[in-house]
Amino acid sequence: MVANRRRQQRGRRPAQKRERQPVEWDPKTKLGRMVKGGKITSMSDALRTGLPLREPEIVDILLPETDDEVIDVNMVQRMTDSGRRVKFVITVVVGNNDGYVGLGQAKGKEVGSSIRKAIENAKLNMIEIKRGCGSWECGCRKAHTVPFAIKGKSGSVEITFKPAPRGIGLATGEVAKKILRLAGVKDCWAFTSGKTKTTVNYAKAVFNALKENTQMRVMNSEINKIGIISGSLGITAETEQPIPPGTEQPTPPEEAK
Ligand SMILES: [Zn+2]
Repeated sequence: MVANRRRQQRGRRPAQKRERQPVEWDPKTKLGRMVKGGKITSMSDALRTGLPLREPEIVDILLPETDDEVIDVNMVQRMTDSGRRVKFVITVVVGNNDGYVGLGQAKGKEVGSSIRKAIENAKLNMIEIKRGCGSWECGCRKAHTVPFAIKGKSGSVEITFKPAPRGIGLATGEVAKKILRLAGVKDCWAFTSGKTKTTVNYAKAVFNALKENTQMRVMNSEINKIGIISGSLGITAETEQPIPPGTEQPTPPEEAK
């Protein structure tokens, strides 16, 4: 249901067409060739190679079930000799609702094509996040919140996420909600400072906090105690081939409300 609603909100964009494209792709990078050749079959392995992720098709194959949401559309006007020029700066979040999320931006004369470019850029920025039950009030050991407090900053905006017990939901601003939801975080407290109305900086601060979470080293004892999981809880793309067209992806159970 949520997915459908999201699709409608996207409005004029031909969402379906983009999502079910058969992947006819001639990889140009080492990582791309490894993914197409079936040597790498999960996003986790792809990121772990440390090779640069330069082709969005890599994400299309390894995470075929991503969703995206436009975070911000900023119109920039400029006067030139030949008249008024309008450009759009688009900020987009892409995620699989289960451990992987990316933030991307693109600039262009036309909204639709800029959104598509921003989505591609978001895929190239994809990170694997850690989830767990970092809440001492909860202790359920399920991966529903952040495993520990994380902090991110961009411009004047600073945000701290803290683990919340199950059922709290995302006690954050709207922009953070969009990003955390697509990352697969269910419950979270947030504390912010700075100009949080600057949507783009706010979004970047959220993403930077999640990045910090990604890079944090954890000990095995903590992994067991808090139930930390890095990446997806659900099925990763084990297939060498892209999902054949017409095959419906099951809706992740956590989306059911
Ligand atoms: Zn819990």
